[in-house]
Amino acid sequence: MSDDDKDNHPEAHDHAVVLGAGVAGLLAARVLADRFARVTLVERDELPEDAPAFRPGLPQSRHAHVLWSRGVALIEELLPGSRTGCWPAGPCCWTPPGTSSG
Ligand SMILES: Cc1cc2nc3c(=O)[nH]c(=O)nc-3n(C[C@H](O)[C@H](O)[C@H](O)COP(=O)(O)OP(=O)(O)OC[C@H]3O[C@@H](n4cnc5c(N)ncnc54)[C@H](O)[C@@H]3O)c2cc1C
Repeated sequence: MSDDDKDNHPEAHDHAVVLGAGVAGLLAARVLADRFARVTLVERDELPEDAPAFRPGLPQSRHAHVLWSRGVALIEELLPGSRTGCWPAGPCCWTPPGTSSG
């Protein structure tokens, strides 16, 4: 049993709050949702509803970003469907030589 097992934390987990709906906040909220009855994600920007959009809280989003294949695989594990849902045309994946994307 690892220290992180649910059995090691019998105390009631009622409500977790995550600040920021960037990639770290979204993934943290996803992981916390397994342990807490309720997770609240607090974001200061108004989030776009239909399609990705630039917003003030993420000035770096106007720059090209690269997500390595292992990152894509891990995000897909936590949020099934994100691979096709977030990148309708499909992400362009590159697995560096000598590494595994799984
Ligand atoms: C020019 C540039 C190029 C980059 N290229 C790459 C790349 O190719 N590959 C890569 O992996 N990474 C790249 N990065 C890094 C990547 O952008 C960051 O590591 C990543 O965005 C950090 O994610 P995050 O969720 O921690 O924070 P952020 O994405 O910055 O999200 C923070 C969120 O918190 C919100 N917030 C802030 N303050 C508050 C508040 N007080 N209350 C509520 N909400 C708040 C913001 O609005 C935002 O939504 C690049 C960064 C820059 C600047």
